[in-house]
Amino acid sequence: MSNFNQNTNALHAGYNPSESKGSRAVPVHQTSSYVFENNQHARDLFSLAKSGYIYTRLNNPTNDVLEQRIASLDGGIGAVSFTSGTSAISSTLLTLLKAGDHIVASQSLYGGTYNLLKVTLPRLGITTTFVDADNPENIQAAVKENTRAVYIESIGNPKIDVLDYKAIADVAHANSLPLIVDNTVATPFLLKPIDFGADIVIYSLTKFLGGHGKALGGIVVDAGKFNWANGKFPEFTEPSAGYHGLVYWDALAEASFLAKLRIEGLRDLGGSLSPHNASELLLGIETASLRLQQHSNSALKVAKYLEQHEAVDSVNYAGLESSPYKALSDTYLPNGQSGVLSFRLKGGYEAAETIVDQIELFSHLANIGDSRSLIIHPAGTTHSQLTEQEQASTGIYPNLLRLSIGLEDPQDIIQALERVLEKVVATV
Ligand code: PLP
Repeated sequence: MSNFNQNTNALHAGYNPSESKGSRAVPVHQTSSYVFENNQHARDLFSLAKSGYIYTRLNNPTNDVLEQRIASLDGGIGAVSFTSGTSAISSTLLTLLKAGDHIVASQSLYGGTYNLLKVTLPRLGITTTFVDADNPENIQAAVKENTRAVYIESIGNPKIDVLDYKAIADVAHANSLPLIVDNTVATPFLLKPIDFGADIVIYSLTKFLGGHGKALGGIVVDAGKFNWANGKFPEFTEPSAGYHGLVYWDALAEASFLAKLRIEGLRDLGGSLSPHNASELLLGIETASLRLQQHSNSALKVAKYLEQHEAVDSVNYAGLESSPYKALSDTYLPNGQSGVLSFRLKGGYEAAETIVDQIELFSHLANIGDSRSLIIHPAGTTHSQLTEQEQASTGIYPNLLRLSIGLEDPQDIIQALERVLEKVVATV
């Protein structure tokens, strides 16, 4: 399937009907475990002498299709799926890092990830320096002897910042560090971070890739290009006590990270994706390319409309001519900037609250990437655990609202905004 284009791979990659009794749709293998042929077969599977299925916490034929499909869309060598985007992120970091290690991360991150890095991982001795990644030199300045990863979001949620991925990858690689990119908002249909040097790409499938708001899921794609034997990652080059003394790099070379992620992230930490959800997510991915075009076109229209409204102070959307990220967006996201935008109101917090409470059509909830339009006040919800100063560093203020623009007619979306903005004009 690798010779086909991305839109074709979104429908076909990783699945051959003849291997499933001709079933055209990908079957849901709703099973916890798999029957071994005999004792030797079981021993071979457990020792990795043979490939096959043991237990759905480790792998599953439906999840396999999802993994191969996303890997093909991103240009990676493979992928491991998880029960949520958050599980994909935490499992990746726990597979790579140990007590005493350090991460350099963009400060413009989804609130849950920010909290994982700021509060939860330090409890395990893994610390993070947050930097303004608009300037890649800030990343270089924050690298320490014990740094083991650089972590960014391709389009920050909700600052909607676009970074210079190639320059950041160069900094990471000059320091022998992997670049990890959360590409949830852009999706591989608008940006393939591996093309610009990313080593590991992570998605919350819950958002635009699924698109229906029905199922949580996450996935980690490996570019297969990072040299884990560069001396900074001894867990890859020394016998693993967790797997019969296996030396990952000797046995699996460029597939080492994915194997360790499956063994430690799924076998030991257990964040496996339900096959039923994998099937729901596969269905969404079939139409994601078309949807992302519509999300992007409508979001640009809405951003332009908001920008000229007298009640609006400023709009964050990289597709706008006025955006400080327009030039980077032209380079990296020429086919669209996805469906998430944020804006600040001249009327302050009160105006923001009026809009959230009174807007029609938009669903007020904590998600992005649904086919329906969504609204939320990040300072009071998704990023409420951050201090005011931290919020400001991630582009969040009391008067900021985040919109995820859905697939409704853009005229109806703008009309819904028009009606509610009229109510706050008086507060300007
Ligand atoms: N990454 C980004 C950019 C997100 O916006 C979110 C959730 O909002 C996540 C990761 C976490 O994903 P999940 O909710 O699937 O755990």
